[in-house]
Amino acid sequence: MKKEDCIFCKIANGEIPSRTLYEDDQFRVILDLGPATKGHALILPKEHAADIFEISEETASGVLVLAKRMAVKMTQKLHCDGMNLVQNNGEAAGQTVPHFHLHMIPRYHNDGQKINWIPGECTQEELEAVKREITG
Ligand code: AMP
Ligand code: ZN
Repeated sequence: MKKEDCIFCKIANGEIPSRTLYEDDQFRVILDLGPATKGHALILPKEHAADIFEISEETASGVLVLAKRMAVKMTQKLHCDGMNLVQNNGEAAGQTVPHFHLHMIPRYHNDGQKINWIPGECTQEELEAVKREITG
C-alpha cells in the first residue's frame, strides 16, 4: 500500500482528526475507535512504516519510552489495575492496519476482556530444536 493512502499516516500527521492524548515530532497517541477497554490507546509513529520489520531502530526505542510514560499517566488518570501492550505484525498476527502501531490496553479487574493465547505443550527436545533453529 502507498503511504498516501495510509489512514494512520493521515491521523498521525493531523490530516484526519482523532482523539489525541499526546503528540510530539515523532509520535501521536490516539484513542482507538473500537476500544477493547476504557482508555484503549494507540501509539502511532508519524513516519510511515508498515510494521516492526520496517520501523527504524530509533523509532523502535522511542515507542517503548513513550509507552512507559503513557502507561504511568493513563494509570494515574484512569485508575486501571493493569495494562496490556499489544503489537501485531502481519495479517497472520491479526494486523488490520499496515502502519506500525502499539496498542495500550488498560485492564480492570473483571473487565471481561481476553487478550490471551492458548498455552501449548512441548518437550525439552522440541524447545532445544527451536532454540537451535533461531540461534543457529
Ligand atoms: P490492528 O488489528 O493491530 O491492526 O489494530 C488496528 C486498530 O486500529 C483496531 O483496534 C481498530 O479499532 C483501530 N482503528 C482502525 N481505524 C481507526 C481510526 N480511524 N481511528 C482510531 N482507531 C482505529
Ligand atoms: Zn502510514
